[in-house]
Parts: sequence; C-alpha cells; structure tokens
Amino acid sequence: MLKFSTNKNNGLHLFWAAAALFFSTFSPSIAAEIVGIRFGETSPTETRLVFDSKGLPDYQIDAKASGAGVLVFTFPHGSLAAQMRASGNGAGHAAGYVATPGNVPPAVTVTLRNSAKIKQAFVIAPSSSTPNHRLVVDLVSAPVSELVASIPGRKFDNLTEVIAAVAPPATPEVSSLPAAGPAIGAEVASLPPVSFRPVIVIDAGHGGTDPGAAGQDGAKESAATLAAALALADILKATGRYDVVLTRSKDVRLAHEERSRIARDAKAELFISLHADAHSDKSVRGGSVYTLSDEGTERSAREALAKGNYNVFDLDIGAADREVGGILYGLAQRRTANESDRFAELLIGKLAGVTPLLNNTHRRGNFKVLLAPDVPAVLLELAFISNKLDETNLQSPAWRKRSMGAAAAAIDAYFQQRAASKHASNEVSPAEAR
Ligand SMILES: [Zn+2]
Repeated sequence: MLKFSTNKNNGLHLFWAAAALFFSTFSPSIAAEIVGIRFGETSPTETRLVFDSKGLPDYQIDAKASGAGVLVFTFPHGSLAAQMRASGNGAGHAAGYVATPGNVPPAVTVTLRNSAKIKQAFVIAPSSSTPNHRLVVDLVSAPVSELVASIPGRKFDNLTEVIAAVAPPATPEVSSLPAAGPAIGAEVASLPPVSFRPVIVIDAGHGGTDPGAAGQDGAKESAATLAAALALADILKATGRYDVVLTRSKDVRLAHEERSRIARDAKAELFISLHADAHSDKSVRGGSVYTLSDEGTERSAREALAKGNYNVFDLDIGAADREVGGILYGLAQRRTANESDRFAELLIGKLAGVTPLLNNTHRRGNFKVLLAPDVPAVLLELAFISNKLDETNLQSPAWRKRSMGAAAAAIDAYFQQRAASKHASNEVSPAEAR
C-alpha cells in the first residue's frame, strides 16, 4: 500500500526550511554556549544528564567502550562558558566529567562508573520558567558493548529538527525539566506509541535478466534477495506498525533509478536494499551494511545542480533561487545521511547476534540506489553467496526468519528512538503530520 502526504505539510516544511537557512546565516545566537552540566539518578537503572545551553546546542555524541564506558560530547559551533567548572562529580551511572573548552571543537567527557547505553537524547527549548535550552541525555543500565550502537544521530544536523527548533511553538511546552537542583527524576519519559505508520520500502536487489552474483551450488543473488525481502515484509506487516512497499515482488529487472523513485513516490521513511556479496576468496563470509559515501552524496548534489532539479520533500526547493535550493539540498542530504547512519548502526547491532558479519561492518559506498536526498537508506549485503556456508544460510528459511527478524527489530528501535525524542521535546515533524 502506498501512502501519500499532503502538499500542505510539505509547504509548511519548506517555509521553515527557508526560515532555518536565514536563521543560521544571520543569527549569531545559533553558536550556543554550554553553561553547565547536571546529573540526576532518576531510578536505580537510569541516569539523566542535562547540559544547560544559551542558544540551541549543535552537538555530537561519541562513545568509547573502555572501562564502564566513556561518552564524549562535542559542540562543533559552540563554546563552553567560562564559569563552567573544568571537572566535577557525576551521579548514578556517571562517575564524573571533564570539560575541555580549548579543544576544537570544545568537548565534555563523561566517564561512567556503571555501564549504560543511551536511551534517548533530545533538546528542550526554553520556556517561560527556564531561559536556557537543555540538552537531555538519558542513560539506562546495559552492557558496555551496547553503548556505541546506542548513540543517536547528530541532532542539529537533522534538518527537521533545525526546522522545528526555529519554528514558533505550535503548542505549549508539555515536557520540561526543573531548572536546577537534584530533583531531576520526576520525568523519565516512557516510550510513546508510534503515532504514525512509517512507510518502509524493501528493495530486493537484481532480478529478471540481471541475476546478480551466483553461489558455488548455483544459488542466485536475485532469488536470495527476493526471498529475504518477502520474509522481512511479512514480519513488518505482522506488527501492524508499518506500511510496507516492495520494489519488486517477483523475478523482474528494475533500473536503480526506478528503485529509488519508488521509495520517493511512496514517501518512504526508510529504504532498505538487500543484496548478497561475492568474492574470489571463497572463505570470505559475513554480512555488512552500506550507507552512501561522501562521493555518492556529492554525485547526487552534482546531478541535482546539473538538472536544476532540487526536488526534496516533494517540492522544488530550487524554484525560487538556485543557490538557496543548493544549500537546502545539502541540508536535506546531511539530515538523511545522519538518519541512515543511525539506522545502519542499529541494524548491525541487531544482526550481530544472529548472523556472521564482516569485521568492518559499516561501510560506505557510492551506490546509485542510495542517492535519494530525502529518504534514509541502507544497502544490506546479507552474506557472501560465494561462500558455501553463507550460501546455505541464504537459502535457509530458518536463517531468513532470524536475520530478517533482527532487521525488523532494528527498524522498531529506529522509530522508537525517533518517536521518543520527538515526544520528549514536543516537536512537530513532517513525519508526524502525515
Ligand atoms: Zn548485488
């Protein structure tokens, strides 16, 4: 089933995209100043970190799985206030922090004493009672091995959130933190239900006169990808949470452009292209996940420029001004790339337990099928069809059920993270407006 959003919402979206552009160009207040960090033990298994920020914080979170875990917060366009203490004690899972204002970009490193993963991270806009923006990061007890995969995408690079941040509040703020003090615990947001049905486009690679790679025992890549796509579609449909679109449901050939066009026409929230790898070294086995490389991103922008075709979110954003169109196109691409990366990491985390993976599992490629600027997309190489064991897996219904079950779990986690962060910060996104 296809789902179409109305142009009304997209028009609004474009308006605020333009607003965001001017805001970022002309307003110096976008360079946020972090004025403090607070820790609260919200329950025996949860800890909340709050950064108080003058201005909307542009932040990035990185993590290291050393000891009980280390979180590094960097602020690419921001600064750390002079009054902020260079180090301090934490609470709950956090042992303490060290601030390095002289680093480029400035950073705050939080060392954990009990291992945890990030449950959610979001920004709360100032309210009448709280003049500062607050970057809130909720940690929940988990093995240290889960920390890195739990890192959410870069928030401020996310176009929809840039737009939401500069848009005037449509509704009064329902969720806020106390301005200061230890009683941060009151509001550990539970995961809200997903209130819209995201469209997932599943693309079975190859097909028809293009069988793809072949196995030693004669398995065809085009058949393996179709079987996996149908299995994933069945699992997703059974949840009742998604609208699922297959680029092909039989053995037919499709051009790459046709595959990504289907995703854009369907207003996909996520595009997953399934393939199977092949290598002359028959011992090589394992799955891997690709997102679009910088080269691919540049190619997409070049092609858009050459054609003067800046259609993003269903609108020709270059119609008024080609230069503005180009900048907005780049913003959309960055937002999409961050979402793709976030999903790729979740996918790898879920697949790791159920099927062999290559060492350097998250890779980047210049794949035509991943070029859409407005649809988060990954290419999943399920396994090596050239390896006997992997070939057997690719033909096994039980393996398909396990691995595609893991992919479905990653999709659930991806949309739950997104819904949680939007719910908590009370932002309205085009996706929710659908
Ligand atoms: Zn392939």
